[in-house]
Amino acid sequence: MSLNYNTNLIKVKRSYSPKEIAKLFGINKKTCFLWIKDKGLKVIKENTNPLLISGQELKDFIIQNKKNRKTKLKENEYFCLKCQKSVIAKIGSEQIIKTGKTIGEYKLPQMNKIGLCMICETKLNKFLGVCQKD
Ligand SMILES: [Zn+2]
Repeated sequence: MSLNYNTNLIKVKRSYSPKEIAKLFGINKKTCFLWIKDKGLKVIKENTNPLLISGQELKDFIIQNKKNRKTKLKENEYFCLKCQKSVIAKIGSEQIIKTGKTIGEYKLPQMNKIGLCMICETKLNKFLGVCQKD
């Protein structure tokens, strides 16, 4: 999901059809349906044509998704469930293990990075993509 959706464009007191949302943000209508189907964007009433989403719900949804993106971890960070924040592993506790699964069409082995939280020593765990960027 792009970070560039301007929530100021949304009028919270009106409702939007997926077509209108698509137009508002300059995105594909299919993306809107994906938000509804897979990402938990709530419609006012199911099985209506067109589906309608309240402006308030749309705004909350996008803000929430932005927040989720912000917790994206850096290379050396983990998310600690106990500390409820991104943390760095204790020095010497990190290991990279193979999960036994493969990723993508080239069947590259999926790697898992484990370690202990530097603060509370809870086990940390994250999947490493093979083509890990940023
Ligand atoms: Zn911790």
